[in-house]
Amino acid sequence: MQHQEKVKTLAFKKVIRPFTKTRALFDKATGNPVETNLDVYRGVVSAVKFLDFRGLPDRELKVRSEALIADSRSVPDVSDHGDMNAPFPPHDRLIEAFALVREASRRVLHLDPFDAQLIAGLAMASWKIAELPTGEGKTLAAVFPAYFYALSGKGVHVLTFNDYLARRDAVWMGPIYEFLGLTVGCAREGAPAGDKRRAYACDVTYATAKEAGFDFLRDGIASSVGDLIHRPFHMALVDEADSILIDEARVPLVIAGVGEKATWDAGRLAGLIKMSSPECDYETDAEHRNVFLTDEGAARLETALGCGSLYDTKNQRLLEAVHCALHAEALLRRDVDYIVSDSRIEIVDEFTGRVVDNRHWPDGLQAAVEAKEGLARKTEGCVLGSITLQHFFRLYPRLSGMTATARPAAREFKEFYGLNTVVVPPNRPSVRVDEPDRIYTHREAKRTAIVVEIARVHSGGRPVLVGTASVRESEELAADLKTAGIACEVLNAKNDELEARIIAGAGKPGAVTISTNMAGRGTDIKLGGEDERERDRVVALGGLYVIGTNRHESLRIDTQLRGRAGRQGDPGSTRFFISLEDDLFERYGLTGRLFKRHRLSRQPGAVQNGLVSRDVWHAQRVIEGQNFDIRRSLWKYSELVEMQRRIIQNWRRSVLAQDADLETSSGLVPEKAPALFADAAARFGKRQAGELERRLTLVQIDDAWSDHLAWVQDTRESIHLVSLGGKNPLGEFQRLATAAFLGIRPKVEKAVITAFHILLGKEGPLDLDADVLKGPSSTWTYIVNEDQFGWGIEMLSGKNIGLAAGAALYAGPLYVFALLINKFSKKKSR
Ligand code: ADP
Ligand code: MG
Repeated sequence: MQHQEKVKTLAFKKVIRPFTKTRALFDKATGNPVETNLDVYRGVVSAVKFLDFRGLPDRELKVRSEALIADSRSVPDVSDHGDMNAPFPPHDRLIEAFALVREASRRVLHLDPFDAQLIAGLAMASWKIAELPTGEGKTLAAVFPAYFYALSGKGVHVLTFNDYLARRDAVWMGPIYEFLGLTVGCAREGAPAGDKRRAYACDVTYATAKEAGFDFLRDGIASSVGDLIHRPFHMALVDEADSILIDEARVPLVIAGVGEKATWDAGRLAGLIKMSSPECDYETDAEHRNVFLTDEGAARLETALGCGSLYDTKNQRLLEAVHCALHAEALLRRDVDYIVSDSRIEIVDEFTGRVVDNRHWPDGLQAAVEAKEGLARKTEGCVLGSITLQHFFRLYPRLSGMTATARPAAREFKEFYGLNTVVVPPNRPSVRVDEPDRIYTHREAKRTAIVVEIARVHSGGRPVLVGTASVRESEELAADLKTAGIACEVLNAKNDELEARIIAGAGKPGAVTISTNMAGRGTDIKLGGEDERERDRVVALGGLYVIGTNRHESLRIDTQLRGRAGRQGDPGSTRFFISLEDDLFERYGLTGRLFKRHRLSRQPGAVQNGLVSRDVWHAQRVIEGQNFDIRRSLWKYSELVEMQRRIIQNWRRSVLAQDADLETSSGLVPEKAPALFADAAARFGKRQAGELERRLTLVQIDDAWSDHLAWVQDTRESIHLVSLGGKNPLGEFQRLATAAFLGIRPKVEKAVITAFHILLGKEGPLDLDADVLKGPSSTWTYIVNEDQFGWGIEMLSGKNIGLAAGAALYAGPLYVFALLINKFSKKKSR
C-alpha cells in the first residue's frame, strides 16, 4: 500500500503537476479547443480604437450608424464573414460597428469599454464562446456583436439566464442600440403572443433561452402564417453559456395540449358500434382499410346518443371518435391485429405476426380499441411538440456565447455546437485567493466547522457568501447560524428579481448571505454594496469571502461560485468545506472507499492528509468525464428524433404557407385523390377546397407528430431492455424510430382523405372556421425535469460511474493518461 502511495505521489510530482501547471499545454494535450493566443483579436482592437469617434457630435454618430445599417441591408447577408473556423478576418464594417458601439457606450452609459470586453465581443462576433471572468462586464461585451449582426435587420437574440436578467439587460443596454438607430425588445416569459411578436421583430431581442424555445414550439402548431411569433433565426448570443448550452441543454422543452376531449363515454360508444351491423350501418372498402358510416348507421347512432346531427360542427370530435370506434370494431381483429395481455393492448406486426413491444396506434384509435376491449384508460394531455435546448440552439445559423467558465466546457462546446472557446484574461488580474479544501469525515463535523468559520470571519465585519447544494441545506445552515446568534440572508425565493437584489447586497460589511450555487447568477456583487464609501472598509478586510459547502459534480460549477469573489481585481478569497458523507461521494459509493483507503475514522476536526483532497479532485474529474459521456449518449438518442422533427416541420411549414398562393397550391389531396378533390372543388369552389385541404393537413400532421412523440417516449423508456437481450439499444432504437417515422406520411395522407370524405358527406355549405377542426383549444408548455429517457446513469451499458470513480481513486493520475490515450486512439481511428 505504502509503496503504491509513493509511486503515485512520484508520478504526480514528476509527470502530472508540471503538466497541469501550464493550462494551455494541458488543454492542447487533452484536445481542448481553446484559443489563448489573442494576437489577432488585439490587432482588430487596435484598429477599433484607432477609429476614435470621440470628436464627433451625437448627430454625426447617428448618421454614420444609419449609413452602416442601410449599407448592410442593401446587400444580402453582408454581416456574414463566412466560415466560422476561418481565422478572424478584419473587416471594415466590423471595425466601424465596434467603434460606434464603443463611443455610444461612453456617451449613453458612461462606461468606457475595456480591451477585454472588445476582445470578448470580437470572439463572439466570430462565433466563438468567450470566457471572461465574472464582473468583467459581459453584458456590455455582448452589445458589440449584437449590434454588428443586427445591422442586417434579421434579428439577433441575446439569450439570458433568467427572465429578470432578460429585462434588466434589455433596459440597461437598450439606450446604446437606440442611440445608434436600432430597435431593442424583450420577450418576457408569459407575455401575450402579440407582445412577443413585437419583441422578436426588433433588431435585438433579449429573452431567456427557454422562452425563445417555447415560442418556437408554439410556432410549430400555428394554424396560419400570421400566428407565427418568431422570425427566421439569424444569430443568438448566449449568456452564461456553459450553464445554458451544456448543463440545462438536454432537458426537453415540451408543449402539450388538450383538445375538446371526450365529452362522451368511450365505453358506451364502443357498445353501440358493437351492436350495429356491417352492410347496413357501415361499409368497408375493398382492401378492408377504410370504413365509412352509412346514412342509416349515422341516424341510428344519432338517436342512441341524442347528440343531434353527427356532422354538426359541435360533434366533430365525437364523429372522429365514432370513426375510430368503427375502425376498431370493423377493421382490427383481436388475436390477429392485436392481442390483449395484462390488461394492455399489444399490437401484432402484420408482416411477422409477432407482437411488437410498446407500439401504439394514434391516440384516438388506441383509445377506441381499449374501449372495445373494456380496458381502463388514463386521460391526460398529449405532447404536441418537444425539443431539447441543445437542438434548439442548433437551429440558429450563427451561435456564440459568453461565460466565466468556458474553458472546462470547451470540449463540449466543440462537440455539440462546433464552437471554439476564446479565453480572455480579465481587465485587471485577479488577486483572489483560493484556499485549500477543508475535508471532514462526516456531515456534522463539517456543519459545525462552517458555523465556526462564518462566526470567526463575520465578527470582523467581512462579508461572507455561502454557496450550498440545495435550498434545504441553505435553510438548515441558516437555522444553525441563528442559534449561533448570526443574522443572515437566505435565498430561497423563487423570485429572480428579489434574489438578484439580495445577492447584490452580499458585499456589504457584515453581510452573511446563503444561497444555492446557481441562485443569483448574473448579478454583480459590489464590495461595500451600493455605498461607495463602504467599499474601502471591505477591501481592507480582504473583500468577499466565499464558502462552498459541497463540491459539485462538475468542477466548473465550483469555479463559478469562487468567481463571485475577487471581481475586477478586488481582493477576495474562497474555501470549500466538504465531508466524505456528502452526496457527491455517497451517490457514487465513494464514502466507504475513501474511509477505507485512508484508514479514517470519524473525527471532529479536519482531515490532515493531502492525499484525501487529491483523491477528491480525481473523483470529481472522473464523474465529470462520465457525465460528459452520458450527455453524449443522450445526444445520440435525441439526434434522430430531432432530424425527424425538422423534416416534419419543413413539411408543415410548406403546408402553412399554402394559403399565400392557394391558386397554385398542389396539396396532398389533389395529388393523391384527384377525383375527390375535383368533387370538393366543384362543390365549394377551388379556393375553399384548397383551404379545407390545407387546414385538414395541418391538423393531421400535428396529430401524427404528437402520436409519434408519444411512441418515441414509450420506446425510449423500454429500449434499454434490448441490451439484456444482447442487442445494442441505440441501434435498435434508431431502427424502430425510423420505421415508425416512415409511417407518418401515409398515415397523414390517409387521415386527410378520410376527413375529406366525411366533410363531403355533410349537407349544405362549408364553413371553414366552424367545420374544420382547429388545433387544441388550450396548450401549455413545460420542461421535462427528469432526463428525457426516463432512465439514468445505470442504463449506459457497461458504464458504472460509481465503479469508475472508485477505480479512479486507485488509478489516480492515470485518469489523465486515459484522457490522452482516448484522444490519440480517436485520432487514429479517424
Ligand atoms: P458579468 O456579466 O461579466 O459578470 P456584468 O455585465 O454584470 O458582468 O457587469 C459587472 C459590472 O461591471 C457592472 O456593474 C457594470 O456596470 C460594470 N462594468 C461593465 N463594463 C464596464 C466598463 N467598461 N467600465 C466600468 N465598469 C463596467
Ligand atoms: Mg453576466
